[in-house]
Amino acid sequence: MRITALAGGIGGARFLRGLKAAVSPSDEITVIGNTGDDIHLYGLKVCPDLDTVMYTLGGGINEEQGWGRREETWSIKEEMKAYGVGPEWFGLGDRDFATHIVRTQMLAAGYPLSAVTEALCDRWKPGVRLLPMSDDRIETHVRISDADGPRVVHFQEYWVRLHAAVDAEAIVPVGADTAKPAPGVLEAIADADLVLLPPSNPIVSIGTVLAVPGIREAVARASAPVVGLSPIVGGAPVRGMADKVLAAVGVETSAAAVAKHYGSRGNGGLLDGWLVDSADAGAVAEVEAAGIACRAVPLMMTDVDATAAMARAALELAAQVAEAAK
Ligand code: GDP
Ligand code: CA
Repeated sequence: MRITALAGGIGGARFLRGLKAAVSPSDEITVIGNTGDDIHLYGLKVCPDLDTVMYTLGGGINEEQGWGRREETWSIKEEMKAYGVGPEWFGLGDRDFATHIVRTQMLAAGYPLSAVTEALCDRWKPGVRLLPMSDDRIETHVRISDADGPRVVHFQEYWVRLHAAVDAEAIVPVGADTAKPAPGVLEAIADADLVLLPPSNPIVSIGTVLAVPGIREAVARASAPVVGLSPIVGGAPVRGMADKVLAAVGVETSAAAVAKHYGSRGNGGLLDGWLVDSADAGAVAEVEAAGIACRAVPLMMTDVDATAAMARAALELAAQVAEAAK
């Protein structure tokens, strides 16, 4: 079985770990990772979401934090600070730095990001094929108004430095409109037996991947069932500040509203099936009325077993929608 998943950082990575545990080793998983969070720091190209997936599946992640390397040290950051060179608000540890140095060096030598990602994965062996959504530079920017007036900041500055404390007025994946999907991305969607939307941020993770011309259309037209899992549980994001970016695009923070934002494939949208948490069982009827098959199951990724059960529920729902379509 060929499974293709779109993914952001922590929500995507943790789900994929459960998915790997749920499927058989002969199944092939392709991950199309968000690169809208990418940022240049200290002259280095940093790809936070690709690295979170790679480290999580490759056993290098800091488990408590959910991002960055485990057993990390911070000498470089301290040395940079001694030189008065920031940004201090972005945490790059020594081990993590090595990844960004390798990446930047390979990009400077002319390799596309997809080839660089493959080379980095040679070390980490994440057990999935990890593709950036695009080899072209895309950066998500956020429009805000604060004491400094109306302005636009990089998504990382909004999220990490400002903790999404001010409202986001608009979210723009700069560069996406002229970007091309990375090699293999459209094929991985078209040739899949199942397309999954993990419980990643629907706007700044999955939404950015879908903003690359051709990707949304490929998902909408995939011959395989498309099943998603809600990142919103009980009317709130489990982790992070997804409510802020949902509000920016006028979507309510609820499991049903996110499903309707993706839309039903029957009506030109993306989803055949949607899983909500048991706490949101009351939303099932509303989602089904929108033309999306929906089930309520536990969706808290507390450990790999619980997450594998979520993945199995997604596989089951996919089989049911495929059967119903016959
Ligand atoms: P990021 O790029 O690191 O922000 O990660 P993603 O975009 O992949 O995932 C972030 C989303 O994961 C957040 O909006 C959370 O709501 C969601 N999330 C985190 N942990 C859980 C969980 O245990 N269950 C569910 N259903 N969603 C979760
Ligand atoms: Ca991210």
